[in-house]
Amino acid sequence: MNTHFMKHLECVLCKKTYPIGAYFTCPSCGEKGILDVVYDYETIKKFMTKDTLKQDDDHSMFRYRYLLPVQTDHMKDMLKIGWTPFYRAHRLETYLGLRKLFIKDESVNPSGSLKDRASAIAVLQAIDQGVNAVSCSSTGNAASSLACHAARMGIPAYIFVPKRAPIGKVNQLLLYGAHVTLVDGDYNQTYQLSKEAIEHFGWYNRNAAVNPYLVEGKKTVGYEIFEQKDFRPTDWIAVSVGDGCTIAGIYKAIYDFKKLGLIHKIPKLLGVQSEGCAPFVEAYLSQSPLKKAEEHTIADSIAVGVPRNPIKAIHAVEKTHGAWIAVPDEKILEAMRLLGTHEGLCAEPASAAALAGIKEALKQGIIKPSESVVMIHTGHGLKDPVNAQKAVGSPPLCSPELNAFIKQHESLKETPHD
Ligand SMILES: *Cc1c(COP(=O)(O)O)cnc(C)c1O
Ligand SMILES: [Zn+2]
Repeated sequence: MNTHFMKHLECVLCKKTYPIGAYFTCPSCGEKGILDVVYDYETIKKFMTKDTLKQDDDHSMFRYRYLLPVQTDHMKDMLKIGWTPFYRAHRLETYLGLRKLFIKDESVNPSGSLKDRASAIAVLQAIDQGVNAVSCSSTGNAASSLACHAARMGIPAYIFVPKRAPIGKVNQLLLYGAHVTLVDGDYNQTYQLSKEAIEHFGWYNRNAAVNPYLVEGKKTVGYEIFEQKDFRPTDWIAVSVGDGCTIAGIYKAIYDFKKLGLIHKIPKLLGVQSEGCAPFVEAYLSQSPLKKAEEHTIADSIAVGVPRNPIKAIHAVEKTHGAWIAVPDEKILEAMRLLGTHEGLCAEPASAAALAGIKEALKQGIIKPSESVVMIHTGHGLKDPVNAQKAVGSPPLCSPELNAFIKQHESLKETPHD
């Protein structure tokens, strides 16, 4: 490991510190004692500044190598992950009545989602540590990204998915040559089985929340947003939340860049969940501890009834004076249409949920029309064709004659658009 720039691991609960690589979770606190990587910011400052970043021709997440828990030797062999587009969304701004909206497009990562950033760390660490296989349980994207990068680097991947995983994502796993076990149970049961199998076989554990290094990969999306916005953060960053690792990663990005003196303002984080599975929102609104939630939503990537990274995620929203919000599936389907028709972006339900959350937060006065917002577009819509069809229906059938088409064309012109 690139221990040069990492100081130690620190428990989020008891604040005890441990050497890098010693444990995944705190031995005194158990599974809730998620560990956090602490860096030597004074040394990093000498290597990474606004100027060195400007001149860096590594246009991937590895431009932030000094802040990543991996050795540099194998990064160059990876597929291109990160340094994804950052768009101003003029047409959605007008639609929403919002001063400024930006979209960070994570759907163009190699396996089509933001999860590639975390899986890259998993695969590189497995190589660094000489572990012969990688494994995880997942509702889909964590697994497909792990399978993708493991294939690229020639390492076997053992994947456990709940049986409700969308077919697009399961197909992706099989195309990448992963060993796939479809588990006849919910996400929680799938997770338990993977945990036991990983211990039994000694594979590299890419289960996001308990692995303290993966959030270090996810945080690079935050670094990029700040760099692409000339180190002047927007008022808000909105992202959908399942386990809570992505929002925790964005908070880590804020923390690191503040420590390095690269940004001065703290953007507020909007954590968006689906009403059908909203444990964070329910805990936030009732001011009570997190309770297991049902998993009834089309947004499978954020259908996590028992979030594995609650402390860091709650902390992220609290520390930035942000907010939590839930949106119903109909609004998620509407947001999928809005992203497509207004910006040419194809989003899976969990990704579109962030936009639905922004719309709802504007309605509730949480976000002001005068503010600026970044929406993180976390995953590509082609991953979930079944729900894409729910959003848009099927096109009308036409007989292959011009007159029939003209007639249909005339009648369709009257159909309203979002
Ligand atoms: C995983 C995922 C999320 C949420 O990330 P968590 O770390 O589970 O909170 C959001 N959108 C997509 C597309 C994802 O795959
Ligand atoms: Zn502890």
